[in-house]
Amino acid sequence: MSAQQTIHVDGEWRNAASGATREILDPADAKPFAEVAEGDASDADAAIAAARKAFDHGAWPDTPVAERAALLRRVADLLVRDREKIGLLESRDAGKTVEEGRVDVDCVADAFRYFADLVIGEGAGRVVDAGTDTVHSVVVHEPVGVCAMITPWNYPLLQASWKIAPALAAGNTFVIKPSEITPLTTVALIELLVEAGLPEGVANIVTGPGHSVGARFADHPDVDLISFTGGLISGTKVAQAAAVSVKKVALELGGKNPNVVFADACATDEGFDTAVDQALNAAFIHSGQVCSAGGRLIIEESVRSRFVAELALRASKIKLGRGTEEGVECGPLVSQQQLDKTEYYVDSALEEGAKLLTGGRRPEPSEVRPAEGYFYEPTVLDNCHRGMRAVREEVFGPVLTVETFTTEDEAVALANDTEYGLAGAVWTSDSGRARRMARRMRHGTIWINDFHPYLPQAEWGGFGKSGVGRELGPAGLAEYRESKHVYENLAPEPVRWFAG
Ligand code: NAD
Repeated sequence: MSAQQTIHVDGEWRNAASGATREILDPADAKPFAEVAEGDASDADAAIAAARKAFDHGAWPDTPVAERAALLRRVADLLVRDREKIGLLESRDAGKTVEEGRVDVDCVADAFRYFADLVIGEGAGRVVDAGTDTVHSVVVHEPVGVCAMITPWNYPLLQASWKIAPALAAGNTFVIKPSEITPLTTVALIELLVEAGLPEGVANIVTGPGHSVGARFADHPDVDLISFTGGLISGTKVAQAAAVSVKKVALELGGKNPNVVFADACATDEGFDTAVDQALNAAFIHSGQVCSAGGRLIIEESVRSRFVAELALRASKIKLGRGTEEGVECGPLVSQQQLDKTEYYVDSALEEGAKLLTGGRRPEPSEVRPAEGYFYEPTVLDNCHRGMRAVREEVFGPVLTVETFTTEDEAVALANDTEYGLAGAVWTSDSGRARRMARRMRHGTIWINDFHPYLPQAEWGGFGKSGVGRELGPAGLAEYRESKHVYENLAPEPVRWFAG
């Protein structure tokens, strides 16, 4: 296997300056299936210099909005053309099922189309009433400049698109560093940007580790904005490094997301079935490696035993295997590290008094589940409480903890008792209660009788330690812009403040 040239700087595909490479493993069998360039800080410097040049001297920032939007739409069309290829690549790289990979590609195309439509629909600026006819005052938006982007391994392509599409729509240039363990689809996306006709130097990618490439992005004085999606620890380091040069900082960090189920949602058989089914989806899709995973089930005591029994039964039937195999519903964890972390949290919860209802171990190998793969059984832990690490911290694995409440106030207190605040759901047939809960729960997204959907038109982001800023929606575009107030005096005359 020869290493792919995965560093793209100033319109040219390259190896790492050091010549270093990295093997990319298939999480289903831990075997290498690709090899990429392993960049370091010097590659980051070269990419940032290219993006700086393209911003300061290139055509893209001044390209008419209609042309920028047309390019974004071409990218969406190319994604549709390459849906199967890229969906499969995402499946092998991140371990998800091919169908999940395909859905990701669809969502990425939607993000490109959404930001194209958003910039096209805008006027030339906001006229401000200065209180006199002799002044014309307008607030316009301009690109921030060079944007650096750092993305995680769980939704590599999707997270990249939530940054790249608005950054380009706003007229910025950028450098991106995907997660070192899942870089392949971001490389493929840069290839599509090039094919769509983006000028050289506007889009640059450096594959490589966080401690060198990512850290350089964060502290480099020529970067105007850093947008980071990943864990709390790395995000904090990025924010600290960025503060030295007073960059704009956007952080999309972790979550510990409550799924609150009231007994009234389960009063009918259909309601019960739907709430159980969605609780399963909330916790176990992509093996729980989702920032908004509903890993905390908070359920009304009166319905608990029936609900968790059914949930555990259905969780035990989830078909685990290689994401490319027909009939597989859930893939492996992404790495040995993620598997170790999941095992640690389950063990700690059991030591702290949780009751294991299902899972809690690696599955038997099978034809679709190689022994070397990072598989872990969907796990339901009952009798959990707020003091447990598995309840407080992000597990990022297929683990559902169960807590109970008896009053609405108690449900709110539990749902808000987290340092994060990314997303949460409430299940109830009482619309008044649904609105009250939605208002009182302190999370960036609240689902009522649903879990997981998002819309490109609606802002995504978190309260508390889930982050700073928003992606998607108008605010997701605003992150990549500076506002400029242009005040024109149409009849200038002396002020005479100073007598002399
Ligand atoms: P991570 O923090 O380990 O890595 C994220 C990225 O940061 C990677 O590209 C990594 O190389 C880089 N990085 C690591 N150390 C760095 C440093 N010192 N300086 C600069 N960059 C550095 O996270 P992960 O394990 O890849 O992803 C999982 C995390 O991402 C979870 O916490 C999850 O909740 C979060 N996430 C959040 C959202 C959201 O929308 N809020 C979406 C997806 C994932």
